[in-house]
Amino acid sequence: MNKLRQLNIDSTWSLFLDRDGVINKKLDNDYVKNIDEFEFVEGAQVSIQKMTKLFGRLFLVTNQQGIGKGIMTHEDLKVVHDYMEEGLKPFDVKFDALYYCPDLAAENTLCRKPNIGMALQAKKDFPEVDFLKSIIVGDSITDIQMGKRARMKTVFIHEDVANPEEADFVVKSLDEFSILLENS
Ligand SMILES: [Mg+2]
Repeated sequence: MNKLRQLNIDSTWSLFLDRDGVINKKLDNDYVKNIDEFEFVEGAQVSIQKMTKLFGRLFLVTNQQGIGKGIMTHEDLKVVHDYMEEGLKPFDVKFDALYYCPDLAAENTLCRKPNIGMALQAKKDFPEVDFLKSIIVGDSITDIQMGKRARMKTVFIHEDVANPEEADFVVKSLDEFSILLENS
């Protein structure tokens, strides 16, 4: 894809990944509260492996208001994330940082997507991060909104071709995007 090639993605670029619906299967009207509820999207590990070879930095940015609602704890989330990272280790995938926002949607705090607090935190922790040389991949409109507010490139994972927020790319899965990248 020409549009992707024009970006000249290299190790000066950062990749921001949403979690639910991108890396692991999203639960309907529920939160992933324990490792039994965490299931990788088929092929996600290999897709991330392929992508991270191109990028310099890899970040997770995930809204987890199940914590704010009292349905799960910070510790529950840590157990789930440790499990996810263990599952990615055999693929040589290591996140530079995992950012999550525990706050309720109604609170509209800076960290909660579509606000850009988690991106700003990444930039604070890793000053070389350049949002103009960053891609966010997510399956919610709020992921795309956050990316646009931070002036990142945006990849919308969606089953149909509707692109209400005018993401830069629309794909059906992380796998599809990793193949596009590979071929760009
Ligand atoms: Mg999601």
